[in-house]
Amino acid sequence: MIFSGVRRKLSDPDRSWSILAIKILAPLACVGVLSLFAQVLSGARSDAHRNASAAALNLATALSQDVARNFELYDLSLQGVVKAMADPGISTATPSIKQLALFDHASGARYLNRTIVMDADGNVIAESRPGSSRPEKLSDREYFTVHRDNLVDGLFISKPIQSRYDGDWIITLSRRYNRPDGSFGGVVVGSLSLGYFQSLFMNLKTDKDDLFRILATDGTLIMRQPYRLTEIGKDFSRSDLFNYFPAEQSGVHDRKSSLDGVDRIYAFARVPNFPFILTVSASKAQIEMAWKDKTVSLGLMMLSLAVVILALGVSLAREFSLRRKTEGKLAATASRLEFMSRTDRLTGLNNRWAFDELVAKEWKRAIREQTEFSILMIDVDHFKRYNDEYGHLRGDAALIQVAECIGKHIKRPADVSARFGGEEFAVILPATAAAGAMKVAEDIRNSVALVHLGNPGIPSLTVSIGVTSTIPTRTASFDEAFNTADRALYQAKSGGRNRAVYQAPETANEPQRSSA
Ligand code: GH3
Ligand code: MG
Ligand code: MG
Repeated sequence: MIFSGVRRKLSDPDRSWSILAIKILAPLACVGVLSLFAQVLSGARSDAHRNASAAALNLATALSQDVARNFELYDLSLQGVVKAMADPGISTATPSIKQLALFDHASGARYLNRTIVMDADGNVIAESRPGSSRPEKLSDREYFTVHRDNLVDGLFISKPIQSRYDGDWIITLSRRYNRPDGSFGGVVVGSLSLGYFQSLFMNLKTDKDDLFRILATDGTLIMRQPYRLTEIGKDFSRSDLFNYFPAEQSGVHDRKSSLDGVDRIYAFARVPNFPFILTVSASKAQIEMAWKDKTVSLGLMMLSLAVVILALGVSLAREFSLRRKTEGKLAATASRLEFMSRTDRLTGLNNRWAFDELVAKEWKRAIREQTEFSILMIDVDHFKRYNDEYGHLRGDAALIQVAECIGKHIKRPADVSARFGGEEFAVILPATAAAGAMKVAEDIRNSVALVHLGNPGIPSLTVSIGVTSTIPTRTASFDEAFNTADRALYQAKSGGRNRAVYQAPETANEPQRSSA
């Protein structure tokens, strides 16, 4: 019982499933952890890009609105001068009154360098602020000719040019004014230092590869940060980048710069009502810097976690398979031990211990099913003499042959044979009546006698057999029936040996008697 329990436990097939599960699950867990990590990181990378794009777009839009507001102010001040020039009294006013009437509006506008008024021939007739040198005529300037020749209606904004007053880089805002009769009276020009645009970007917190630009809608670069003088006023209308800006008011796109090869996101915003585009660009490498740092540190952690899981899986699988091997060996040993503990070593039949266990089971079944239960007690005749004559080893060989003869005639699965001790053997035949039991007894007896008769080298040996049969009641004990078989054996001995004798039990349910 103990051994079969151990064997059952040790041969548990769940264990091989566990090993297989670990072998599959550990790498799966690793893959799971790593893919989860990859997903989180790619999400974080997209977030970084999205946030940077949104920030760049917001900045471009805010800057463009600032530009629009300032230009509106500058234009208003120009319009003020134009209006004043239309007043007939202005031509007769004293210079100081004239100065006050014309340029009072301009005084508050920051970065508006100077406002000048030119007559129909391009002569400077008034200026808001004197310069180090005063050009006499500016009739060759584009801002003069476009108004004189009526090429623009309203406000004209020039490309970046160098001031003839002080050499400063400026762009001009200009408007035409008419004489009271409607003919061309001259031009009012305001110059705006490019420093204004520079100041827009100056106070921004920037990274190394960040790039801010303001372009005219015809592609002329007006200002850039980082500042590069050689590019100011240059025509970028044919550049990839410029042509990429769609017709929308603002937007973001990403591309590699053909100039410096840096991969950037470009946010652009058109300046409302004025012909400018503002771009804010940030390098992708910069955007991803924090993300990359996090990736490296988290990646190392995740990789260590995956390695730990894998190592645990490997060591667990190893441990399990080692245990399985050991347990397999233990199970084999247990099964061998169980066999040995139940088997007579010399004959291979059941021993007394196994016999008692099997008999108890079959006896109970016979009580339940009320079937005939037969017992054979077999004893080798004059075996002591045999031993004495041929030696103990020869005696052992003879006992093995007797056991074989018994085994040959015990055919039903429920039949049990055992070496009971010394040269005595016992057989139980469940569900077998007296006649059948006597038949088996005779077959065994004849078989033993025949083996020895048919082999002249082996001295003759016989057995005596006591037989009994009973239908056991709940109160009947096996020992009683066994004693009856023992008594029958005694009768066989005393009757001359080499015979089978039947004796019926003394109690009720006495089966039919058969003669030996
Ligand atoms: P009887 O016909 O009355 O049964 O005479 P017997 O000599 O067989 O009976 P007894 O019980 O006096 O002797 C039994 C002998 O069986 C004693 C011993 O020499 C022998 N014997 C018992 N066990 C073994 C064994 O394992 N091997 C051998 N070789 N002999 C054994
Ligand atoms: Mg004996
Ligand atoms: Mg004997």
